Amino acid sequence: MTTSSYPDTRLLIANEWIDATGGKTIPVINPATGQPIGTVAHASVADLDRALAAAQQGFETWRAVPAAERAAIMRRAATLLRERAGDIARLLTQEQGKPLAEAKGEALAGAEIIDWFAAEGMRVYGRIVPSRNPAAQQLVLKEPVGPVAAFTPWNFPINQIVRKLSAALTTGCSFLCKAPEETPASPAALLQCFVDAGLPPGVVGLVFGNPAEISGYLIPHPVIRKVTFTGSTPVGKQLAALAGAHMKRATMELGGHAPVIIAEDADVALAVKAAGAAKFRNAGQVCISPTRFLVHNAIKAEFTRALVQHAEGLKLGDGLLESTTLGPLANARRVSAMSQVVEDARAKGATVATGGLRVGDTGNFFAPTILADVPLDASIFNDEPFGPVAGIRGFDSLEDAISEANRLPYGLAGYAFTRSIKNAQLLMNRMEVGMLWINQPATPSAELPFGGIKDSGYGSEGGPEALESYLNTKAVSMVGV
Ligand code: NAD
Repeated sequence: MTTSSYPDTRLLIANEWIDATGGKTIPVINPATGQPIGTVAHASVADLDRALAAAQQGFETWRAVPAAERAAIMRRAATLLRERAGDIARLLTQEQGKPLAEAKGEALAGAEIIDWFAAEGMRVYGRIVPSRNPAAQQLVLKEPVGPVAAFTPWNFPINQIVRKLSAALTTGCSFLCKAPEETPASPAALLQCFVDAGLPPGVVGLVFGNPAEISGYLIPHPVIRKVTFTGSTPVGKQLAALAGAHMKRATMELGGHAPVIIAEDADVALAVKAAGAAKFRNAGQVCISPTRFLVHNAIKAEFTRALVQHAEGLKLGDGLLESTTLGPLANARRVSAMSQVVEDARAKGATVATGGLRVGDTGNFFAPTILADVPLDASIFNDEPFGPVAGIRGFDSLEDAISEANRLPYGLAGYAFTRSIKNAQLLMNRMEVGMLWINQPATPSAELPFGGIKDSGYGSEGGPEALESYLNTKAVSMVGV
């Protein structure tokens, strides 16, 4: 079945779904068919003002709710998300393109993340610090930072919100999200779970519209105390600068260009299975997607053959079909970007080992692509491809591979395959990344920090560090009289 119902999405303000003032909407396109499937409301400044007032009110209410009660509401939302995962997956696949199994997995993983943050919020401890004055007691208090403005992208419409939302809610912040206009229905369904779980009005809000206009209005606004963004590095730098100009706390989860170092002593079959699956998940539109494969020259031919075989075994198609393992790209911009990446590499001397072309003339389908013997000046080895294209280069010494991995300004994820502890330690200590997976696929679970360094941003969306960025620290010294 390749059709399914799809709703129009409205704005969520104070627990009510409303049309934008003036009724302006934006069409939503199914990337598998190129056809419009619905619309999303385009917020006006008046709508944003209402959403901000609700977020301020929601914050005052929510910060006074005990952590245990906040956790209980969050757990109820997670339960609803699990119950609704199948239906939400159908919305997500229609608006974003990924195979149904991946979409359902995203919703279920979201529920796990909510549960973890709900529990962790009960462990936001302050401190008692010994005082130099015997009559004084010194306390360190942790308090919610305030209403949060979140800007999330279309590649994981649920997951990108869930990490930010869960950290905000569990620490007592209210949360106003500008979710992606291209994929609005699954974020709306996610937030509906929280409304149905009993979240008081104003604690969450959802708006859509012109991204630059909304961020330009919300970030400087005095109600907003924290900004969190996931998206490209150039946009992240603009928003971080705006946040800095208005002295707002900020978390930036930006682009990556993950190196995969496959040492001479690697288990090649494991490397192909783990990195191959990671490469083509969500059609490569993943900030932690492996993109630069650096393979020891002794095993490069064997690895390339096996990765090509893996890529050719994928079933490209409409994500709503059960047989599909690789969906279309989320929007037409990515198809032309992939064509350019391939043409650039070919012109500079790389070999197209498989793929390299758009498939069909309906929808945004692009063949899984492996580029071999890629020269260093090719775009695929410098700019984040964000699509189903992998580039392979050989190396002779692990030191050279690490230098190449660290050459780019990005520093988000990295992968390495080796059977040697000595190599693993060298990689662990020297790779300039925020997350490193050795001999395994990426496992970005809620309890581990998730974030980058260098141009990939700052702050974390996992582990206790994720809560810290939604908290203010207040030092109190008190003498009883
Ligand atoms: P883009 O840079 O125009 O947009 C990326 C995201 O940021 C979108 O969700 C968009 O709505 C939002 N955005 C853009 N300008 C904004 C602004 N001024 N204020 C607030 N939000 C804004 O690019 P795109 O064509 O949508 O995506 C392509 C690139 O974006 C990719 O190459 C990739 O580098 C990056 N991206 C990264 C992630 C990630 O998970 N880190 C996710 C999606 C896109």
